[in-house]
Amino acid sequence: MKILAIGRNYIDHAKELNNPVPTEPVVFLMPETSLLRKNQAFFYPDFSKDVHYEVELVLKINRLGKNISERFAHRYYEEIGIGIDFTARDLQAELKKKGLPWEKSKSFDGATPLGDFVPKTAFQDVKNINFSLDKNQEQVQVGNTKDMIFSFDTIIAHVSRYFTLKIGDLIYTGTPAGVGPVKIGDELCARI
Ligand code: ZN
Repeated sequence: MKILAIGRNYIDHAKELNNPVPTEPVVFLMPETSLLRKNQAFFYPDFSKDVHYEVELVLKINRLGKNISERFAHRYYEEIGIGIDFTARDLQAELKKKGLPWEKSKSFDGATPLGDFVPKTAFQDVKNINFSLDKNQEQVQVGNTKDMIFSFDTIIAHVSRYFTLKIGDLIYTGTPAGVGPVKIGDELCARI
């Protein structure tokens, strides 16, 4: 199984990091070893002094597909979950400056905590899902899927041109504004 992730998918977040608003999805991969399930503790890595949280909605792929057209993309996921894409922002800045791939800063062990999944049918409209992140009981991020630059269906169509999607694959769909640092002992709570 593989994990795909979309960068800069909310205009307000692209702007807060001074990144250009993309004209097609920014895609990167994370290995299975980056997953953290069942509320396991995240250990602060020794190669960073500036780890940031990014709350994201996560799609779970439920059928095999390649070159999926946008029109049929909705058939390829039945459940939506929520997770965090931890990012070693200092290391990422260094890698970006050198024009190098940023996996080491985003795909390290434990970098992608993931909660339980909710059936898609629980939502009236997947283009209007509210989600948020609290840090130590204080809300730090709030998003709605209507503000995505690329919708779930556009993302599935785009990534499947390059990567065959398989049952159980996950897609992290990008974070809204409000990303920020964590320190040891912080408690994070993500909600859909
Ligand atoms: Zn992210």
